[in-house]
Amino acid sequence: MFRLNRLVNLDNNATTAVSKRVRKAISRVLRKHHGNPSAQHSAGREAASILQESREAVARAINAQPDEIVFCGSATEANNQVLMALSEHADPAKNRILSTPIEHPSILHSLAQLEKRGFAVDFIPVDEDGRVSLPGLEEKISSQTVLICCMLANNEIGTVQDLTAVSEIAGRHSIPLLSDCVQALGKISIDVKALAVDYATFSAHKLHGPKGVGAIYIRSGSAIAPLIHGGHQERGLRAGTEGVHNIAGFAEACRALPDLLAQCDAVAARKAEILGALRRCAPDLTVNSPADHCLPNTLSVTFPATSNSVLMATLDNHGIAVSAGSACNAAETTPSHVLIALGLTPEQADQTIRLSLSDLTSPRDVRYAIRVFDDFFSGKTPSIPFLRPSQASEAFLFDEQNFVLDVRFEIERRLQKGLPNSYNASVLSFDRYVHAIPKDKNIVVVCSTGADATAIAYALYKRGYEQVCILLGGVIGWRVQQPILYKRLGGTNITKLTPLARGR
Ligand code: PLP
Repeated sequence: MFRLNRLVNLDNNATTAVSKRVRKAISRVLRKHHGNPSAQHSAGREAASILQESREAVARAINAQPDEIVFCGSATEANNQVLMALSEHADPAKNRILSTPIEHPSILHSLAQLEKRGFAVDFIPVDEDGRVSLPGLEEKISSQTVLICCMLANNEIGTVQDLTAVSEIAGRHSIPLLSDCVQALGKISIDVKALAVDYATFSAHKLHGPKGVGAIYIRSGSAIAPLIHGGHQERGLRAGTEGVHNIAGFAEACRALPDLLAQCDAVAARKAEILGALRRCAPDLTVNSPADHCLPNTLSVTFPATSNSVLMATLDNHGIAVSAGSACNAAETTPSHVLIALGLTPEQADQTIRLSLSDLTSPRDVRYAIRVFDDFFSGKTPSIPFLRPSQASEAFLFDEQNFVLDVRFEIERRLQKGLPNSYNASVLSFDRYVHAIPKDKNIVVVCSTGADATAIAYALYKRGYEQVCILLGGVIGWRVQQPILYKRLGGTNITKLTPLARGR
């Protein structure tokens, strides 16, 4: 009855696995080079030299000069820094910013902050593929335009902009251009000089580097100001002791870029295979990612009449990670601003998922994912209702009508406490304890992450239980979303179900 699920990451635009060579580089720094790069002794100088080598490696990857690179804590911070600096250095006569409407929230929310400080933001029209209208851009430019924001590649649909054309227009009007290149690095080659951008932002964790480190390219001579104050690091542009190990990891990820880029055709072929299979199992689907000018790994699809949360929960329970929009949106219930900008209705946005592959997505992963999609759309996998961790409140858990069945292994129970007022049973001896599960209650099956619970939920359905659901994300998801409840009541009032003796 139990099949071990593969774990298939089709959510690489959210983050990628840290590669072995990056792990090694980070661990070498952590083990051997603990110095503070600002310190005036040999350990400090060693760390400073790692920092310098890393700056050179990151600069080389995008054809910049090392002194045009500033390391920071994330691309979110990088985007904030470039935009917030405007309130310090911008000519007061110029207060209009032009942006695409499909930028990452770290740009859009920073722009909203700037609006509070007297700037005005205009959006450049995009077509149904998310491509910026160049005449539309020209039209919106005025003598007051102080900056243009145009990402190189979109995180949700994968659209790659004609940034050279955008920068040609910006240059003609002497307007600086900021490009969020986070999703492009590692998926298409980037030459900041050829693109002629003034600012570009990057994040290590999108290309098998560590999380928590970003970089800003600031074209030599372009205005900038620190966002974080209190230290002279990064030439006074980013105070705080540098995370040397993370920066070294970022540099190592950049050194691996040629290998990564060499895999892009194979990644695109796997994406095409998945799309072909999806078209066969759901012929009425629509594709939001453009056929051309698209990242090789990104595929956004809308399945009419299918709620993306039901599909995502089913995929999750089969070990497949996808996302509804950007990861940063995952907890939000508002429809994706990117899909709305393309002209989708909120309802269509709620029927949309994003698949994002990587060089690590194997042909077996693809075959497995196709089978799970096929089972879902052919009805072979009955979609099991799920309970969101936020719904598993104290009132819910102590409601007499609800029966929480925790099917984790003993070792898992030792690592995380169970939901309060739940019943423990072993996933392996289902037949011997099923008699103790009441048929007249709402059964919520719970495991660590949601996968084993699915198997048990199916088994209960087969035995005539009608009101069965699973806890989405399992105990781990619940602990993350209900930390106070976990701390206060986790592991209390647990009842062990007694299995029938063998042979009965
Ligand atoms: N910009 C884009 C296009 C992104 O996709 C992301 C992350 O998803 C970011 C910025 C933010 O990057 P970070 O996670 O380093 O803050």
